[in-house]
Amino acid sequence: MEKRSDTNFLSVTTSVTVNELHSVVRTLISIEFMDDYFLGPCVDFLREQAKSLNLPFVIHYATDARKPIVVLTWMGSEPELPTILLNSHMDVVPVYPETWTHPPFAAEIDDDGRIFARGSQDMKSLGMAYLAAIGRLQRNNFHPRRTIHILFVPDEETGSVDGMKAFVKTPEFQALNIGFALDEGHVSPAENYIFFYGEKTIWQPTFTIHGHPGHGSLLFEHTAGEGFSYIVEKLMHRRQNEVEKVKRGQPIGNVTSINLTKVSGGIQTNVIPEELSVTFDIRLPPTADHEAFNRLLEQWIRESGANVSLTFEQKEDKVPVTPIDDSNPFWMTFRDVLTNLNFTLEPQILAGGTDMRFLRALRIPALGFNPMNHTPLLLHADDEFIYADKYIKAIGVFSRLIEKLTELN
Ligand SMILES: [Zn+2]
Repeated sequence: MEKRSDTNFLSVTTSVTVNELHSVVRTLISIEFMDDYFLGPCVDFLREQAKSLNLPFVIHYATDARKPIVVLTWMGSEPELPTILLNSHMDVVPVYPETWTHPPFAAEIDDDGRIFARGSQDMKSLGMAYLAAIGRLQRNNFHPRRTIHILFVPDEETGSVDGMKAFVKTPEFQALNIGFALDEGHVSPAENYIFFYGEKTIWQPTFTIHGHPGHGSLLFEHTAGEGFSYIVEKLMHRRQNEVEKVKRGQPIGNVTSINLTKVSGGIQTNVIPEELSVTFDIRLPPTADHEAFNRLLEQWIRESGANVSLTFEQKEDKVPVTPIDDSNPFWMTFRDVLTNLNFTLEPQILAGGTDMRFLRALRIPALGFNPMNHTPLLLHADDEFIYADKYIKAIGVFSRLIEKLTELN
């Protein structure tokens, strides 16, 4: 793509949005924050943002790894009320620059107003839109009733071990007194806007099957291979049932995904091994009966008649979904603001995991929302981009949401 001069594109927008767009472009350029923790510029950038918005800026460290958790705070007139959290993560997933048509950390804008950058969708643009929305509200002399915390965490893409997962256990987190959180969502390729009110639970079981070893020319009973094939057959059959549900139109978020991801065992082709093992990556939706699924795994082990040991690399607890009914006034406000903007909302269960699971586990209602539609979903993909005009619109949406959520009784 031809790089276009910014002035051309920006001339169609107002001066306020030009500044706001420049600020997202700048952050997308300046923050290359990956596994190797090149985090200085990111924290410096946010410190500068806090200064320009006149918001207190605090860094917390939740573990000895000392990965920064940045909190900006806009104090409300009634600070004793539960607060609103706007959460985003600073880290991004790695890139293969050679397969991008634009440099992944240059935030180039093309003729169609597309801004190309790693993290443009997931999720630097949302973190920046939160700040830009607050800037707008301040210029309009809006004063929030509830306090707003804007949180930037360091390691969502790698499991949040030193970020949200650890932070929620600290007194510093408790002191934030969060009543409701907004966090990452997906852009929508269609007209509808997607939001997430729950996510799946990760189970990663390894079945290690022991059996009668011996010469590969003989036919012993109770070999590891027999137990192995029984277990694999049962799980793959169940997988096929779930595939059929998706084919019949069920969203992926509502079914159990099952994938065989690792196999090991065997020492030589003519030797029946004493042990074989197989690992699955399973994601259970909140609608599934997790206990029943566990009993099923145990039942299949028994039926196999083999000596099987079952271990889990990960076996997360079931996390409750955020209620999207009249029991949740934050949801009702969220819905009303967006309905008034003529948005058609599509509630979904997220197939992957985000930091919202740690909040929901504490019964803090959290919704994942990205107010950009008609945009291809490119998170973690090559040539990740957002449309500049949709980003600018998103700032307006967040300023309405923040205004109404903080006013809530
Ligand atoms: Zn993300």
